[in-house]
Amino acid sequence: MEIIFFGTSAGLPTKDRHTQSIALKLEPYATDIWLFDVGEATQHQILHHSIKLGKVSHIFITHMHGDHVYGLPGVLTSRSFQGGEGKPLTIVGPKGIKAYIEASLSLTHVHLNYPIHINEIDQQLDLTVGQFEVQARALNHGVPCYGYRIQAPSTPGTLDVAKLKALGMEPGPKYQQVKSQDTFEFNGVVYDAHDFKAPDKQGPTVAIFGDTKPCDNELVLAQDADVMVHESTYIDGDKKLANDYHHSHIDDVLQLIERGNIQHALLTHLSNRYTKEEVKAIEQQLKHTHTQSFQFVQDFDAYQF
Ligand SMILES: [Zn+2]
Ligand SMILES: [Zn+2]
Repeated sequence: MEIIFFGTSAGLPTKDRHTQSIALKLEPYATDIWLFDVGEATQHQILHHSIKLGKVSHIFITHMHGDHVYGLPGVLTSRSFQGGEGKPLTIVGPKGIKAYIEASLSLTHVHLNYPIHINEIDQQLDLTVGQFEVQARALNHGVPCYGYRIQAPSTPGTLDVAKLKALGMEPGPKYQQVKSQDTFEFNGVVYDAHDFKAPDKQGPTVAIFGDTKPCDNELVLAQDADVMVHESTYIDGDKKLANDYHHSHIDDVLQLIERGNIQHALLTHLSNRYTKEEVKAIEQQLKHTHTQSFQFVQDFDAYQF
């Protein structure tokens, strides 16, 4: 799978950073793409990438602040002309997302050429999308705001070919049955398929956060995640000030990585007050004093896992 950042700034854009916009490529489990937040200029940024809007099947919104949703009407409209015709789109987000979409489309005389389904979150949400499980849980940002935990499907373990051959079974279509089923029949005998393959391989877990100050649900969403995308609006200075604004300070995020046993963290939504050079310098300093696996991301950074 792959995460691509199209916007990594908090609140306001800078010359180098647009506001929050994140794509999740589901390959090898599925061919479609999910977006998490659609800040302004998302569609312009996507034009610089091989991703096509027509491939986006789901959009998850964390909260209704402008730096997370102002790009949505443009993305929805352009999707009609970029391979989206006739392909359904699901949008998940807090209460208000439906009214926002309906008002912006109707007031600008837009008629989409594909069906949209809008799923407003009431407190929390557990959703199955194909073979993926998605959980939305409330954060603490002063307005309704959610984080998402995405569990990729598990894949069958590799076959013990030697053991199958010892039964007299040569490679062929029957092997697929052994791989995908719990039992199989060969020469009139029923076998337990698990005796002939390694255990299922668990797919990765991804946690993608909206804006938040520290709260209990952070661990619910991110515990043992393979990858976490988290805001780190303040990467230096006063922690109390960051929390007073319902945002996270880098110290909060480093603590969460530790407590949640998170394999790797991609830290985004940095305050527009930091220059590129300052971000690099602070990152280097932090890496000297901390063992957690993390990086600050910028627009167009991609992470594969
Ligand atoms: Zn924000
Ligand atoms: Zn916000």
